[in-house]
Amino acid sequence: MSKILAIANQKGGVGKTTTSVNLAASFAATRRRILLIDLDPQGNATMGSGVDKRELELSSYEVLLEGTPVTAARQSLQDTGYDLLAANDDLTAADMALLEEDGRELKLKSALAPVIVDYDYVIIDCPPALNMLTINALVAANSVIIPTQCEYYALEGLSSLLSTVEKIRKLLNPGLQIEGLLRTMFDPRNNLANQVSAQLLEHFGEKVYRTVIPRNVRLAEAPSHGLPALLYDKASSGATAYLALAGEMLRRDESALGLRGKLQ
Ligand code: ATP
Ligand code: MG
Repeated sequence: MSKILAIANQKGGVGKTTTSVNLAASFAATRRRILLIDLDPQGNATMGSGVDKRELELSSYEVLLEGTPVTAARQSLQDTGYDLLAANDDLTAADMALLEEDGRELKLKSALAPVIVDYDYVIIDCPPALNMLTINALVAANSVIIPTQCEYYALEGLSSLLSTVEKIRKLLNPGLQIEGLLRTMFDPRNNLANQVSAQLLEHFGEKVYRTVIPRNVRLAEAPSHGLPALLYDKASSGATAYLALAGEMLRRDESALGLRGKLQ
């Protein structure tokens, strides 16, 4: 069964792209079939996957606005082991142009329908805004992963994201779930980080992944080499944390499937 995951948080720089790329690589390393979709005009997931955003022939822009099939626009990346639907600055215009389209919230969902059987997980890297691109991701997705830094303002931003998810669930995508909250760039020596982490656990309980992503310079360096951390330095604490996250997610999904099997 395939699952579409939106990696979203309207707050900038919280680790959405790092999570998207490294989770895609970690799942691919466990032989899952993965499509990574870059839905951010910054094109960071594209560059971080080793694809030059200035040399794209087809990208998520053409898929959203020109009806180009995903099969034509996706690229198979041999090194990282996943497929990529790339993006660049063209997407900035897409956000506005979509406003004038009929069924503007459904563009990505419709585009993904024919290819979904090709994948175990589709991972969508969202831009740092609650705009039409993020709405397309949330409408197409089965669930949302929310990366968050354990900082003072982190909780504030979460409430507007959660109310957007709630609205989309009511109006456009009744099955949309919160997959999980992921603590990123965590420094256990920082008292505030520990306090905020405790608050997240108190508020969101089981929804908070047990796996914590540490602050790790390898995760920050890897994109400049166009590589996920797993290929750049597979022994690094960052690479192993994302492998552990993939393992935690797979176990959760498998136990949910097992439970469903027993109930049937
Ligand atoms: P944006 O909102 O701009 O899309 P983002 O939420 O996608 O940002 P990232 O680009 O993943 O965030 O991360 C922001 C910066 O922090 C990047 O320079 C990235 O390399 C660095 N970074 C992310 N996670 C870690 C980590 N665990 N340890 C160290 N650096 C990190
Ligand atoms: Mg990003």
